[in-house]
Parts: sequence; C-alpha cells; structure tokens
Amino acid sequence: MPLFEFTCTKCGKVFEELLSLAELDAGDLECPACGATEVARGLSTFATSGDGGGGGCASGGCGRGGFA
Ligand SMILES: [Zn+2]
Repeated sequence: MPLFEFTCTKCGKVFEELLSLAELDAGDLECPACGATEVARGLSTFATSGDGGGGGCASGGCGRGGFA
C-alpha cells in the first residue's frame, strides 16, 4: 500500500498517510493538525520495502539484472 505525503494548504502541516488508491481517490482526507480538507499531495513512496509483493520474487525472478 502506498504511503502518500500531504501538505495542508491551510496550516502548512506535512503529514503522511497510508492509503489505497481507492481511498486516495475518495479524497476524504483531512489535516491532523487543523482538520482542514484542503490538502495537497506531495511525494509518494512505497511503504513495502521488498518482499511480500505477491508472487514471482521468491525464486529470484525479479532480482536486478538478468531476467531469465
Ligand atoms: Zn492544517
């Protein structure tokens, strides 16, 4: 699940939320500091740090370099 960074356009608070794309699309996000819903999305990074992605990687198939 992606980790999104948001910046509140009202108070300038920067915060991060783990959201599914559906939740992100719903846009019902509010600033934890002031409660405003006027937040701008900033950088996004993936919270998953490697394995557990769901198949294919266990045998080394998705390693860097040679793809078969
Ligand atoms: Zn705020």
